[in-house]
Amino acid sequence: MKAVRFAAAGVAGMAELETPKVRSGHALVRVRSAGLCHTDIEVLHGRYGEGAFPLIPGHEYAGTVEAVAEGVTSVQPGDRVAVDPNIPCGHCAACRKGLTNLCATLKAYGVTENGGFAEYSLVKVGHLHAIGDLDFATAALAEPLACVLNGLGAAGVEASRPASALVFGAGPIGLLMALSLKAKGVAEVGVADISEPRLAFAEALGLTPFVSGSEQLAARAKSFDFVADATGVAKVVEGMVGFTADGGTALIFGVCAPDARIAVAPFEIFRRQIRLAGSYSLNRNIPQALEILSHDDGTMSRLVSHQLPLAEMLPFFSRHSGDPATMKVQFSAEA
Ligand SMILES: [Zn+2]
Ligand SMILES: [Zn+2]
Repeated sequence: MKAVRFAAAGVAGMAELETPKVRSGHALVRVRSAGLCHTDIEVLHGRYGEGAFPLIPGHEYAGTVEAVAEGVTSVQPGDRVAVDPNIPCGHCAACRKGLTNLCATLKAYGVTENGGFAEYSLVKVGHLHAIGDLDFATAALAEPLACVLNGLGAAGVEASRPASALVFGAGPIGLLMALSLKAKGVAEVGVADISEPRLAFAEALGLTPFVSGSEQLAARAKSFDFVADATGVAKVVEGMVGFTADGGTALIFGVCAPDARIAVAPFEIFRRQIRLAGSYSLNRNIPQALEILSHDDGTMSRLVSHQLPLAEMLPFFSRHSGDPATMKVQFSAEA
């Protein structure tokens, strides 16, 4: 089978590999759509995961079950499925608390085990979720959406019912978060970015655009019940508190550099009763993401900007596309 393979740190290429043989408790999935995410680039450079090279990357994928191991009854050939990539140990302190995303020895398809940028992927059957009649490109958004939902859960969004929200970063994940807030009934959802074309796209999706650093945005200081960062820029994170309304919540969702630091006034957090939240990855909530995608009117799937054959994915691992029209880039078996 054809696959994208990370041979060693920083070395990505195409490979012709043997199709995996079905092992006990596993199913062979024919990958139909697989999304590229910034994490894949971190994995390539050995900055994320264990540097388990060689590796087939890709942790956001959906496809059809091709074959199952003997005795497997939960799925059968032909089933349309999305993959939950996280493989928690199940018995460490975090796992026992139900925080499987914080497992002390967390493994994941596409990070420590071969993932979805291949024609086929061998996956434990417990990691497969039925997608109904969702198209594969949309179903491959279930993993990033599940990360967003885990973030909104960690921030207590459901219980606090914000009337207004602001998301920094109009990339695919920021927009997915903004659209999720809309789907949860938040009346006003703003998106802030420095890219005018990205803001125009956000507006076309029904979101309120704000140019970062503009007077229009400055005028909205302390006015959003919920503020999230999806840029991973520490300076942006530092500024979030200033836009958070009294009693509101700020969520650190974007991935900042591990050595980055911010300065915030503890007095302000205290006096204005602000909640600072963080969130990481997804926590067994692919079904909830699929549920939201199944009710989406097609707006979320507009975040998929590229559907490419495997070989055409390669350039996206080595350079950051400066093109603001590049949103979610996916491998598509149909492309
Ligand atoms: Zn990802
Ligand atoms: Zn664990």
